[in-house]
Amino acid sequence: MKIGVTGGIGSGKSTVCRLFAQKGIAVYDSDAAAKRLMQQDDTLRMRLTERFGADTFRDGQLDRSRLAGVVFSDPQALADLNALVHPVVMADFDAWAARQEGPYVILESAILFEAGLETCVDKTVAVLAPRELRIERTCRRDDCGPDEVGRRIAAQLDDDTLSGRADYAIVNIFEEDLELAVVKLDRIFSHEAARH
Ligand code: ATP
Repeated sequence: MKIGVTGGIGSGKSTVCRLFAQKGIAVYDSDAAAKRLMQQDDTLRMRLTERFGADTFRDGQLDRSRLAGVVFSDPQALADLNALVHPVVMADFDAWAARQEGPYVILESAILFEAGLETCVDKTVAVLAPRELRIERTCRRDDCGPDEVGRRIAAQLDDDTLSGRADYAIVNIFEEDLELAVVKLDRIFSHEAARH
């Protein structure tokens, strides 16, 4: 069985996924995988070059800031980038999942619904937290300003939408409550996986 875990910036989805990993559950970091595949998958590299030009790669390395600049100001370019990258991530995740042991695996993504990655999983979990807390955590972690984090929050799905679309939600306020939330979900998923 496959479980998708999502949440906005600073919500704590990586922290939640780490707790699942400590229980022996395999976790696929789809944001990291997308970056790796854009660099390493030859067909994807070719398609990116076709769509975004020869200087998409500089000395063989993806020029991330150039690509970010292109898609930031052009919604069609962003849609094209997503249409090229996400199917490759989905195929890579499916191949990875088939190699894992255990009752279920987790797909972690900041953009599970936006990227259509929820179609690759059986159940979804949204990690939610109040906006001010997310800003505070992210600023502390990344040493950046609250305005920048606020802009990134505004570009993502809001918590009402996430909790409406996900099958389960974890409200991540106090870190010491997370363990119990993960234990409960692990029990549910293990039970469902046994019937799957
Ligand atoms: P991003 O999308 O930016 O990667 P994320 O949703 O994966 O964020 P985390 O990296 O898990 O979020 O958490 C953001 C920061 O907040 C981390 O430094 C983490 O240690 C901290 N954090 C997470 N949950 C809590 C909590 N309940 N109490 C205090 N700090 C927390």
